[in-house]
Amino acid sequence: MNKFLPTSTAGSLPKPSWLAQPETLWSAWRLADQDLAEGRQDALSLSLHEQDLAGIDIVSDGEQTRQHFVTTFIEHLNGVDFEKRETVRIRDRYDASVPSVVDAVSRSRPVFVDDARFLRQQTRKPIKWALPGPMTMVDTLYDNHYKSREKLAWEFAGILNEEARELVAAGVDIIQFDEPAFNVFFDEVNDWGIAALERASAGLTCETAVHICYGYGIEANTDWKESLGSEWRQYEAIFPRLQRSHLDMVSLECHNSRVPMDLIELIRGKKVMVGAIDVASRSVETAEEVARTLRNALRFVDADKLYPSTNCGMAPLPRDVARGKLKALSAGAALVRAELTGNQAA
Ligand code: ZN
Repeated sequence: MNKFLPTSTAGSLPKPSWLAQPETLWSAWRLADQDLAEGRQDALSLSLHEQDLAGIDIVSDGEQTRQHFVTTFIEHLNGVDFEKRETVRIRDRYDASVPSVVDAVSRSRPVFVDDARFLRQQTRKPIKWALPGPMTMVDTLYDNHYKSREKLAWEFAGILNEEARELVAAGVDIIQFDEPAFNVFFDEVNDWGIAALERASAGLTCETAVHICYGYGIEANTDWKESLGSEWRQYEAIFPRLQRSHLDMVSLECHNSRVPMDLIELIRGKKVMVGAIDVASRSVETAEEVARTLRNALRFVDADKLYPSTNCGMAPLPRDVARGKLKALSAGAALVRAELTGNQAA
């Protein structure tokens, strides 16, 4: 376990083919009932094993027990009707069929806490756990009750805080909120998005992170990226407010993106998870390519605050590609670690 430049993933890892259709986002389960419950746990153990084999320092559940990074959490809440679906434009980018908020939202039981406890029993490494962020949850629903994105986000933040506190009690070391919507709705992010995130992470005794990316490598995202021009400056609109928040870490998309690396200076003081693995490409990075991205980031962030990571989740990738990318991340981080410490054995 490296305490210097510790590696981690931004989120999901591919699921085994006996659990869900391979290379497919949000694929349906191939098991049911008790078989599904056991199958998900087995997949979680396998995912930990893969991370260990690749030398990943801060491990996760690989999101093996969830179908979707937002809706699986929402499915467990009261006030949302999954039968009443509406087609809405999400992330201001593509239309999706989403469930409706029909009543006050609340959480009557923990969602991921048993899974976190199960993972904790199997490893002594630090665990990072991803939850959807309040704004991204709001942006993945049709709201027929609060009729205010801000009000609904505030309610979700309270619910997320309850879940996060129980995850910490179960042994989670870092809670990461996924907020891809932060790259789209800048005014709302500054008005209430970051405030809602601070409510979701209030009083947590673990480290807190926010993951802000340009999405999985699906067509709608790839097309959107093509429209963003030669420099992606979205982070610039939200980093100043984020810098003043109490969040400890920020997880960013860097490798193969057109984000100018110097924008990291706007979150001075924060720990930065630098995405050094491109999840929209099936070609496996070389250690040197990973190292180059990390060295580039080191021009703007102190080495003790740099966390090599992936750009986003790897759920839709073939398993051997994901495995290769995890190893490349470790190898690239090891190169830079050795350069910084002068210890070739690192
Ligand atoms: Zn992401």
